[in-house]
Amino acid sequence: MDQNRSDIFTGSFTQQEPIPEEGIEAAIAIMRSGRLHRYNVKGDEPGEVALLEQEFAAAMGVKYCLAVASGGYAMTTALRALGVRPGDRVLSNAFTLAPVPGAIAAVGAVPVFVGVTEALTIDLDDLEAKADQASVLLLSHMRGHICDMDRLLEICTRHGVRVIEDCAHTMGARWRGRLSGTDGVIGCYSTQTYKHMNSGEGGFLVTNDDQVMARAVILSGSYMLYPRHLAAPEPAVFEAVKYDTPNISGRMDHLRAAILRPQLRRLEAQCAAWTDRYRVVEAGLRDCPGLRLIDRPDEEAFVGSSFQFLLLDWAAPKVRDVVARCAARGVELKWFGAAEPAGFTSRYDSWRYAPSAPMPASDRILAGILDMRLPLTFSLEDCALLARIIRAEVSAVHQAA
Ligand SMILES: *Cc1c(COP(=O)(O)O)cnc(C)c1O
Repeated sequence: MDQNRSDIFTGSFTQQEPIPEEGIEAAIAIMRSGRLHRYNVKGDEPGEVALLEQEFAAAMGVKYCLAVASGGYAMTTALRALGVRPGDRVLSNAFTLAPVPGAIAAVGAVPVFVGVTEALTIDLDDLEAKADQASVLLLSHMRGHICDMDRLLEICTRHGVRVIEDCAHTMGARWRGRLSGTDGVIGCYSTQTYKHMNSGEGGFLVTNDDQVMARAVILSGSYMLYPRHLAAPEPAVFEAVKYDTPNISGRMDHLRAAILRPQLRRLEAQCAAWTDRYRVVEAGLRDCPGLRLIDRPDEEAFVGSSFQFLLLDWAAPKVRDVVARCAARGVELKWFGAAEPAGFTSRYDSWRYAPSAPMPASDRILAGILDMRLPLTFSLEDCALLARIIRAEVSAVHQAA
């Protein structure tokens, strides 16, 4: 027991794995060639970016894919490609990260926040109640939690709401066997360092819609070189939109694409490795008094790249105490409910540029959410230790009533 009490975790919560050697080799070859811009190709070589798009579209089972500069850029492009205009209202999650309301603000639109449930997913009753207020939903699968997508699609179809999925935390995840990002009109992904593939910065947009894809390609800055894309519609589709679609540059370059292609090939194995880690932490925290685990439905094949639990209805000083005691033992927990945004922001009322009405039921949940990253540099033994430390500190604070 004394031994356990003194256990300290020494791993880094921000340390990802190295880029696969294959990717490093490919990146060096690109640098040697001097041809880094996606449209700078020699003869009829397709280039790394177009190949990556083709491969990502195939991996997701969709027709079209555009590789872009960031996940945030993918979302603003998606909103623009669906014709969202300044002043329009866009439904979105009250529980998400700042780039999501930021994307809505970037196009001059106004978020209508939809509440969060104890499963950490969008509150579908609240969505039903608010669905007539907008014609687009930017749905964030925040921290990898996927709502009942069948019911969500039924609600959105009935109200004529088109869905953009933010899959920053669900690349490779599924709902009833369907890959995340393929249920909506558009799926958006990030390849920023802390997501499921790492190119430093980067992102993807996928769709099966011809017009949407043509607009997205032109928006991203194609300089009318769209025939060079391998995962885009026929040139004739572009003819219909090319004079009316502005160029808002945000392309991906060959260097990033080169390091992503080998990562895409092992995405499935990586996702499984994350979920193994998640399950070890979950098992270690089961039946810990005062701590509530998040229910994961059977329909959801999630990617456990981060772990959340609830200290529901705990007084704020006690939550702070748990965070501090865990930190003292090397375990970095983020308290998403903290009043002041720090390093990350995930509370709708800290986005003052986006007006919101109070949502007491969501506030109760947000106030109790704790979050921990699980990078693949952590072993399963590391994960068991993390759970032991959290369990001990939560129990100690809980018992001290
Ligand atoms: C990281 C993230 C994004 C966008 O990512 P960037 O590539 O950093 O723009 C979008 N949504 C969520 C929930 C994220 O965590």
